[in-house]
Amino acid sequence: MLKRHETRNYSCGGGVGLFAITDNGNIFSCEHLAFDEKYKIGNISTGINRQVLSGMQPVNVNEIEGCRSCWVRYLCGGGCFSEKILTNLQTLSKDECELKKLYWNFILSLYAEAEIEKMNFAKK
Ligand code: SF4
Repeated sequence: MLKRHETRNYSCGGGVGLFAITDNGNIFSCEHLAFDEKYKIGNISTGINRQVLSGMQPVNVNEIEGCRSCWVRYLCGGGCFSEKILTNLQTLSKDECELKKLYWNFILSLYAEAEIEKMNFAKK
């Protein structure tokens, strides 16, 4: 992602390119929601209810109020949507966001160090 200069506008591909299907054929947009039928978006025999699905997908990070000005938004993608559904919150907790920022700060430092090492090696 960093190497290709890509942005991450969504937390994951749940309900878009990834689905969870239980042994009775019920379909969920994420395995973290597959424990309760109230989160079901369809069944393999009847198909997906697109109206229900629209409420069970990650939201673009640019559309999340608390994320719009966060420096790590295009790496984080706005946080796990299942977690937000389960906790009935629009954003992650302040502590979780701080952890994500620390994590990405560390990853970016490692990436920068590796790139500098690569350039120095190429000069030799
Ligand atoms: S760290 Fe928190 S505020 Fe920043 S993009 Fe991720 S979820 Fe949003």
